[in-house]
Amino acid sequence: LFDLKGKRVFVAGHNGMAGAAIVRRLQGEDCEILTADRRALDLTRQSDTEQWLAEHKPDAVFLAAARVGGIYANDTYPADFIVDNLGIALNVIRASHEVGVRKLLNLGSSCIYPKMAPQPMQEEALLTGPLEPTNEWYAVAKIAAIKMCEAYRKQHGADFVSAMPTNLYGPGDNYHPQNSHVPAALIRRFHEAKLSGAPTVEVWGTGTPRREFLSADDLADACVFIMKHYSGATFLNVGAGRDITIREFAELVRDIVGYPGQIVFDTRRPDGPPKKLLDCSRLTALGWQPKTPLREGLAAAYADFLSGSRRSAA
Ligand code: GDP
Repeated sequence: LFDLKGKRVFVAGHNGMAGAAIVRRLQGEDCEILTADRRALDLTRQSDTEQWLAEHKPDAVFLAAARVGGIYANDTYPADFIVDNLGIALNVIRASHEVGVRKLLNLGSSCIYPKMAPQPMQEEALLTGPLEPTNEWYAVAKIAAIKMCEAYRKQHGADFVSAMPTNLYGPGDNYHPQNSHVPAALIRRFHEAKLSGAPTVEVWGTGTPRREFLSADDLADACVFIMKHYSGATFLNVGAGRDITIREFAELVRDIVGYPGQIVFDTRRPDGPPKKLLDCSRLTALGWQPKTPLREGLAAAYADFLSGSRRSAA
């Protein structure tokens, strides 16, 4: 057991959706939370990262910093996705080892798995086949980060672990119309269509891909659980346990937002992999379970969007 009590805990990426949820969750723990804004610390810069970590000497690190985005952003900015994510992982993981960080949790993504991996996807499916082409740049960086943690454990006995969350949603998401993930994109699009009275809303692809959605707060709870209770050599999947089609997901968001119009599918847009459901039996066997029903979590995310859109309108 790694006790967080009295520890100095660095949350890298605390302004992102996952990092912010980890900070909220850590507020219930008796630890000192360290954060650094991008202006104070650019994690893609090696010497800045080394200097900051040497100065602040955290006992534990949650690596939740990343350049993230949905299917369009991944496909459009491949160089940014591979370079920034490799840089952040290399700098934070190496410097953490150098300054004596005792426990590090590296966050990845379910896109590390082969496009046609058997479903639900087990941790063993890593590197068994070709990746989904739209996000292979991001995936390669995330696979490298897993391997860095494994290598530090193998060579130096470092207690560095990795968690691979499924598709996330929650407060503080990025609502960019093009670059966002599907939950934030649809919350915004249905909301704007409700306000404008538009008769239809476009949803990308065919509506048939299946996706699993986990609330960022459930992910944060899993991250704290893993940091405290897990020191194994393999990474762990973190999911919600069930998937739904994009059509069903879009209908759910439409209901929550209260949009009365029709959904149309833009089949010129890519679908991505046909199905992405994680097998989380390793994690659940340790005693962790997700708590938030999808409808409830999405309603909370919509409420957060409404308060945020008022903030940015002011
Ligand atoms: P993925 O799980 O890595 O493919 O991530 P995304 O969240 O970007 O997309 C999930 C699925 O939702 C894909 O099949 C998309 O085609 C579909 N989708 C439907 N409408 C949208 C949208 O407005 N934005 C995004 N990003 N995806 C959408």
